[in-house]
Amino acid sequence: MSDYRVLLYYKYVKIDNPEQFRTEHLALCKDIGLKGRILVSEEGINGTVSGTIEQTDAYMEAVKSDERFSDLFFKMDPAEGHAFKKMHVRYRPEIVSLSLGEDDLDPNEITGQYLEPTEFREALEDENTIVLDARNDYEYDLGHFRGAVRPDIRSFRELPEWIRENKEKFMDKRVVTYCTGGVRCEKLSGWLLKEGFEDVAQLHGGIHNYGTHPETQGELWDGKMYVFDGRISVDINRKEHTVIAKDWFDGTPCERYVNCGNPFCNRQFITSEENEHKYLRGCSHDCRVSSENRYVKEHHLSREEVAERLEKIGETLPETV
Ligand SMILES: [Zn+2]
Repeated sequence: MSDYRVLLYYKYVKIDNPEQFRTEHLALCKDIGLKGRILVSEEGINGTVSGTIEQTDAYMEAVKSDERFSDLFFKMDPAEGHAFKKMHVRYRPEIVSLSLGEDDLDPNEITGQYLEPTEFREALEDENTIVLDARNDYEYDLGHFRGAVRPDIRSFRELPEWIRENKEKFMDKRVVTYCTGGVRCEKLSGWLLKEGFEDVAQLHGGIHNYGTHPETQGELWDGKMYVFDGRISVDINRKEHTVIAKDWFDGTPCERYVNCGNPFCNRQFITSEENEHKYLRGCSHDCRVSSENRYVKEHHLSREEVAERLEKIGETLPETV
């Protein structure tokens, strides 16, 4: 049984003194015993925290007792332990980094129409609707809605530019966006409206809400959902599970993420345990032979042992590293 929970939530609401709020909120979280990551800004709050059932109940009650957050929508996942190692509450100019600059907007004033999970499922099946994944490429590659458009971006702030460059693909259609918990779509859909797109909607509560909804149960989702905590990924489709992600090295179906052993690269990629050993957890030859390779250090491999592994994959260790 799972005695823990992960809470995922956000709200765009004016916070007048975010630095002071941050300090007090951190004290509250530590007092309760939560772990997680919360961003606070003048424009609102965005957090993921983990704790026991009792701790998360106490937290939700404390947050909702503040009238600014009385209607805050907490998405919950059962968990077997904490999903974080520490508790951070940080101040940021924005609660999601979209960096719109002068084009920045308040989703309370302009945002796309909210679609409930069942309405979103209809949109997925409607050929006159473009479903746009508002997440990063590595999130999409682990799992996404069937038929969704994959923006070729490494970080959210690149999305507006990508959309401008690819505008003609969906300018005349209805555009529906989705993201993990909904926070990114609030701003993105508002921006799309400002940009001249006429019919814009967003999945309310994000993929998470769609996966836990009793009617949709994650239907038409393929793969797993990437999450920004210790769990790395979670299941969404409760009717069927398909594996769409592929091993970085040999392309076989795989859903296991690692960080490249070279700390200067740190790329997240998908690979099996077997291939991680075979390729010294390096995403490229340079990363495999890096003198800082964490895999080599963790396994206390000698130069000879590294050379032996490399030989098996047809590579050689440079004379001087
Ligand atoms: Zn690498």
